[in-house]
Amino acid sequence: MYVEMKHIEKNYGSFHASRDVSFGIDKGKLVALLGPSGSGKTTILRMLAGLENPNSGDIFIDGRRVNDIPAAKRGIGFVFQNYALFRYMTVYDNVAFGLEIQKRPKEEIRQRVLEMIDLVGLSGMEKRYPNQLSGGQRQRVAFARALAPNPQVLLLDEPFAAIDAKVRQELRNWLKDTIHRVGITSIFVTHDQDEAVEVADEIIITNHGHIEQVGTPLDIYRQPRTPFVAQFIGTPVVIDNCNILTGFLQVGAGKQAIVRPEFLKIYKHGTMKQYISAAEEGTVEAVVFRGSHLDVTVRIKGLAIHGEYSFDDPPLSVGETVQVLIYRLYVLDGDKTYLKENSAMTSADVFYI
Ligand code: ATP
Repeated sequence: MYVEMKHIEKNYGSFHASRDVSFGIDKGKLVALLGPSGSGKTTILRMLAGLENPNSGDIFIDGRRVNDIPAAKRGIGFVFQNYALFRYMTVYDNVAFGLEIQKRPKEEIRQRVLEMIDLVGLSGMEKRYPNQLSGGQRQRVAFARALAPNPQVLLLDEPFAAIDAKVRQELRNWLKDTIHRVGITSIFVTHDQDEAVEVADEIIITNHGHIEQVGTPLDIYRQPRTPFVAQFIGTPVVIDNCNILTGFLQVGAGKQAIVRPEFLKIYKHGTMKQYISAAEEGTVEAVVFRGSHLDVTVRIKGLAIHGEYSFDDPPLSVGETVQVLIYRLYVLDGDKTYLKENSAMTSADVFYI
C-alpha cells in the first residue's frame, strides 16, 4: 500500500470526526472520498496532508510513518475547491511558487513550469492573472501548481465544486486522464456520487466519521455492503414492507428493502409478450421527462416505485394500469445488505427478459 491510514481517531472536543478509520491505497490510483456533508472526508484529507493531527492511529506514505512529519515535508500536493491561486501573481508565478520555495535553480524552475503549463493545456497563458482565466482554467493552474514540485501524493478537496456543470464534466474527464498519465497517487473529496463513480478507480465511503465501504465503483454499485451504502448510491426507493411484493415473500417480516430503477421493467397493459406470474399490477402516478428516458412512478399495493421507461415503448399516461416486473432488490438486514432475486420468476422468465 502506498498511502495507508490505520485505526485513526480524531476528536474535536467531544465530537468524533474520525472513528477507527483504516484504508490503504495502491500507488498510482485515483481514489474518491465520498460521503454526505460532515461525514469526515475533509478531516481525513487534512490529516494525510499534515494540516491536522490524529488523536491516535498511524499514517503511512510509501512505507514511511508520517505522523510526526510536518506538512511541508510530506511530499503532498494540494488542490482546493476555490482554486486558492495567488491573485497578484501570473499563471507562471503561481505554478513556480512551490519550486521557488524549494530554492531550485532558475533554469530548472523555468523548464518545469513550462512543462506543467503545457501538461494542463495552458501554454501561451503564462502571463495572465487568475482573474483573466475561466473557472476551469484556474483549476488547471491550481493542478499544475500542486504538481510542479513533483509530490508523492496529490490531494484534491472538492476540486470541481466551484465550476459550472458543463465545464465540470470536461474537467472531470481531463483530470482523470491527466492523473493517470502522470501516474500520481491521488485522493479527491466529493459528496457527488456521479462524480466519484465516473472519475475514481476506487471509492472510500464515509459516514459519521467512519468508513462504510471501500471498493471499485462497480463493487460499490453492485454490492453495497451496508444499508447506508445501498441507500446512498444510485436512486433507490426504500420499501418498508417488501413481503407484499410477489416473489419476495421470504425476505422476512420487519426488514426493509431497496429497489433501484434498473431492477425493474414497466410494461404498458397488454404489451407483455407472455404472461409472467411475478408481474405486479400498478397505477402510473407520475411521468417525468429526463432527457434520455422517462422516469415513471408506479404505485403498487401502496408502494411508490420508480422505473425508467423508454421513448421507444408505447406512451404511458398518469392513472393508467401497468405491469411491473421487479427482478431483484437489496434487503437491509441489521448492519448488512444482500441482494435477493425474485423467486417467483421461472428460468423461462429470466430467459425471456
Ligand atoms: P463537507 O462535505 O461538508 O465538507 P466533510 O465530510 O468533509 O463535510 P469534515 O469537514 O471532515 O466533513 O467535518 C467532519 C465533522 O467535523 C463536521 O461535523 C465538522 O463540523 C467537524 N469539524 C471539522 N473541523 C472541525 C474543527 N476544527 N473544530 C470542530 N469541529 C470540526
